[in-house]
Amino acid sequence: MADIHTDYLIAGAGAVGLAFADTLLTETDADIVIVDRHGLPGGHWNDAYPFVALHQPSAFYGVNSMPLGSDRIDVGGLNDGFLELASGAEVSAYFQRVMRERLLASGRVRYFPLSELEHGTDGSHRLRSLLSGHQTTVQVRRRLVDATYYGTTVPSTHRPAFPVAEGAWLATPNDLPQLWKHADRLPSNFILLGAGKTAMDAAVYLLQCGAPPDRIQWVRPRDSWMLNRRGTQPLMAFLEEVLGGQALQMEALTSAADADDWFDRLEQGGQMLRLDRAVRPTMFHYATISEGEIALLQQITRVLRHGPVKAIESEALVFADARIAVPPDSLFIDCTARAVTRRPPVPVYQPQRIVLQMTRIPQPAFSAALAAWLEAHGGDDAARNAMSIPVPLPDSVRDVPRAALVNLMNQGRWSQDARLRAWIRACRLDGFGKLIASVDPADAAKMAVLARLRRAAEGLPAAAARWMR
Ligand SMILES: Cc1cc2nc3c(=O)[nH]c(=O)nc-3n(C[C@H](O)[C@H](O)[C@H](O)COP(=O)(O)OP(=O)(O)OC[C@H]3O[C@@H](n4cnc5c(N)ncnc54)[C@H](O)[C@@H]3O)c2cc1C
Repeated sequence: MADIHTDYLIAGAGAVGLAFADTLLTETDADIVIVDRHGLPGGHWNDAYPFVALHQPSAFYGVNSMPLGSDRIDVGGLNDGFLELASGAEVSAYFQRVMRERLLASGRVRYFPLSELEHGTDGSHRLRSLLSGHQTTVQVRRRLVDATYYGTTVPSTHRPAFPVAEGAWLATPNDLPQLWKHADRLPSNFILLGAGKTAMDAAVYLLQCGAPPDRIQWVRPRDSWMLNRRGTQPLMAFLEEVLGGQALQMEALTSAADADDWFDRLEQGGQMLRLDRAVRPTMFHYATISEGEIALLQQITRVLRHGPVKAIESEALVFADARIAVPPDSLFIDCTARAVTRRPPVPVYQPQRIVLQMTRIPQPAFSAALAAWLEAHGGDDAARNAMSIPVPLPDSVRDVPRAALVNLMNQGRWSQDARLRAWIRACRLDGFGKLIASVDPADAAKMAVLARLRRAAEGLPAAAARWMR
């Protein structure tokens, strides 16, 4: 006999699980149980480094029913002129409010924090309290919802994949604001390990706090392309960058010779940025950055490109092909956690189960809300899955055109369904549909951008035949 019964058991109270629960509450009368081993809602944001922030606007992050931030335009600083980016603390506080004021207040959600979800071999589900060990068995009437697919890891929950000698001073970005506690022995040199967004954030933080650029070394095994934040602003003033940029992406899918050429065209069009124009990036993870951040980061010129670190000694970095001595009292900053685990896509809707994945990339919250809408209104699972092709997460630049096409093809299918189109138009997690709808037909320049977007979309079937072979 089960201890409790529910319609949906959601594994994971991160952005994805909460965005799904929020829309499911709006669209159905379902009862929901949410379980998470973290002690507070928000998933990995609980573990984030203190100076973390969203890298895309708050305006379209979180859950559909509750705004995040106030659509403020930042004045000054590295995000000058762009929509606000919630800090990690703001994101965590927001998800706590979502849980308290929206989900629990509905009377239809039960939340089990500090609890591990376990599955029996007979298909049963148990919530094991991490504090008491008490087990609650759950009978699920409709579906188990897996909101843990991406297995997000951040520096504070990650262990380096290389040995670290005793005596080496290793820190995570979480430790940097605490350096004042070492005032009697401050680092002589800062060594950033990793080429992703975390390392960029840590570098920006160090530079803004006054670390001299010539005392920072940066281990960058691969260079990365990054999205220019200009192209992520759902504001009329940025229409050309946003929609013209989307048109450019589609045009380049039709005409680029290969993935490198596709990125080159987007760079020429101001959509993509890189740190060093002399180095061809080989990686793309949808990191989003401003030109101001790029200019700041370019002050760091001591870049080590010897591939991944193999070991850290107290006064040396070891690579497969080199051993590089570093000054005594160097601080190694581990930014090598891979934010998401790349796994092969699986069908979203399965018998008795939903596995939440991105059907619009890089929009995990929108994708989860859309999955809940389809669960409520999308017909049978074959019809739902036809609307929900998971976008394969790119790592190498070679993977990107295919991911872009899956994204665009999902978008195309959604636009064919009038009810879904109307839901997306009203959804706060969708920034760009509203922008298109609010263009003044008398504004010839803006209407020309929309016409270009439509023309570019016509080339997609041929592009798909080419890139999806
Ligand atoms: C630094 C950073 C900045 C980002 N900025 C943006 C941005 O600007 N815009 C954007 O759209 N995305 C951004 N992202 C992407 C981000 O990963 C997603 O927005 C989102 O937070 C991921 O949420 P999630 O629910 O998939 O994963 P998580 O936050 O990892 O949540 C999954 C939860 O499942 C729980 N769990 C797993 N297994 C079990 C189990 N067996 N039992 C119980 N609980 C379990 C975990 O404890 C965890 O709390 C950013 C990511 C990072 C790392």
